[in-house]
Amino acid sequence: MTERYDVLVVGAGPAGLSAACAAASRGARVGLLDAQARVGGQVWRHDVARADASSVPRAFTRAIARAWVEFLAQTQVVAAAPGVLLVEDTQGARSLQTDALILATGARELMLPFPGWTLPGVTGAGGLQALAKQGWPLAGKRVVIAGSGPLLLAAAASARRHGAKVLGIHEQARADMVFRFACGLWRWPSKASQALRLRAQLAGIRYSCSSVVLRALGDDRVRAIELDGPTGRQQTECDVLAVGYGLLPNVELPQALGCKLENDGAHPRVRTDDRQCTSVTGVFAAGEICGIGGRDAAVVEGAIAGYAAVGAVAAVQALQRRRQHQHAFAAHLQRHFALDSRVLALADPETLVCRCEDVPLHALDGYIDARSAKLATRCGMGACQGRICGSALEAMGRFPRGDLRPPFFPARLATLGDTDFSADLNSGVVSS
Ligand SMILES: Cc1cc2nc3c(=O)[nH]c(=O)nc-3n(C[C@H](O)[C@H](O)[C@H](O)COP(=O)(O)OP(=O)(O)OC[C@H]3O[C@@H](n4cnc5c(N)ncnc54)[C@H](O)[C@@H]3O)c2cc1C
Repeated sequence: MTERYDVLVVGAGPAGLSAACAAASRGARVGLLDAQARVGGQVWRHDVARADASSVPRAFTRAIARAWVEFLAQTQVVAAAPGVLLVEDTQGARSLQTDALILATGARELMLPFPGWTLPGVTGAGGLQALAKQGWPLAGKRVVIAGSGPLLLAAAASARRHGAKVLGIHEQARADMVFRFACGLWRWPSKASQALRLRAQLAGIRYSCSSVVLRALGDDRVRAIELDGPTGRQQTECDVLAVGYGLLPNVELPQALGCKLENDGAHPRVRTDDRQCTSVTGVFAAGEICGIGGRDAAVVEGAIAGYAAVGAVAAVQALQRRRQHQHAFAAHLQRHFALDSRVLALADPETLVCRCEDVPLHALDGYIDARSAKLATRCGMGACQGRICGSALEAMGRFPRGDLRPPFFPARLATLGDTDFSADLNSGVVSS
């Protein structure tokens, strides 16, 4: 079955919602798809503890409720080519066609390996927040949050709201860098007030800088951690450890479509112009896949992409100053939370790097690229398809992440045999 939309948006986070609503406001038939059951993406993820209060702005939920935007829930892109996507939902597979494709697939956490990081009870920082919002019980648990960036504060606040006893927040950046970051926030008043709100919610919780988790200790689950901070090494008992070293753009889909990438620190992001056009005609990108800039940058880029997709030139122009202002915030963020080389060298030779396929770091010695390492050791061949280990090894300076080939996610065999998509493939529309 094939369906056609004037504008098709992948990802229903702040960028995708904003893009879909902007395009729909000019009368386009807009499809908005997301692997999740609800709109909101990472930052507006539904919280089971607040079932009656959605954090998604009303303008966006209204557009979906009134069917100005058609939301395709639990729909995942498994393969793509310009103008056509092969998607899978709970019912089966479909091809979706469009003249204007807007990619807003967001970012994921950078997880860096350290001894004990695969023990049950160790999660990402944003990962802990997502689990808590989905109902993972945290009440009464002793939680340590560590890694880097403002997401640590949001994760700690969520954990506390869900009843956890947060023992401390350990930021790898130096105190003077964090202080300078905070002092510069007056230029983005909404960020400054968000930071103040979070600090108030976290009153009484110790925030340590230059502090790194060296190892997680335990048998069947994490029982304690060893920290290296300004006052030396110490062990702390805990039930949950949440560690995230910032975010990195989800560029697999744009990459598969042939969109040009550029470096965003140690990681690639999608290159766009000031209308959010990628290097591929008819393909736009918005939000964190274009660089880590937070929710407000995602919303403004999304609106620009949505207007640009329907040729609303004046509306695109009107948003340029807001776009630049938010990009300045992204640069401010990156400058002050750069990763210390210490956190890139925490794994010892026995530490599992590829947690899907149980590949220890020493097994990768002697390989100079991701493909040869994968063929010989199965590193990156598991369910996450190298999203975790590939990004970590790239950050650690081992070798660049290998290309991801379709299917981008585990898919049903019936989906891969989809006849419409195969027809597109055979007619040369799709090259995979
Ligand atoms: C785990 C995590 C927690 C975060 N928590 C916060 C927070 O509390 N506060 C904060 O200010 N910022 C938070 N952030 C940062 C946040 O990502 C951004 O500020 C903001 O949500 C970015 O918006 P976006 O629309 O670019 O991407 P996202 O919000 O990430 O939305 C992207 C969407 O695309 C969908 N998607 C991706 N690939 C596919 C595919 N192949 N097929 C179908 N759908 C797909 C995803 O399901 C997701 O819903 C968090 C980030 C992460 C990774």
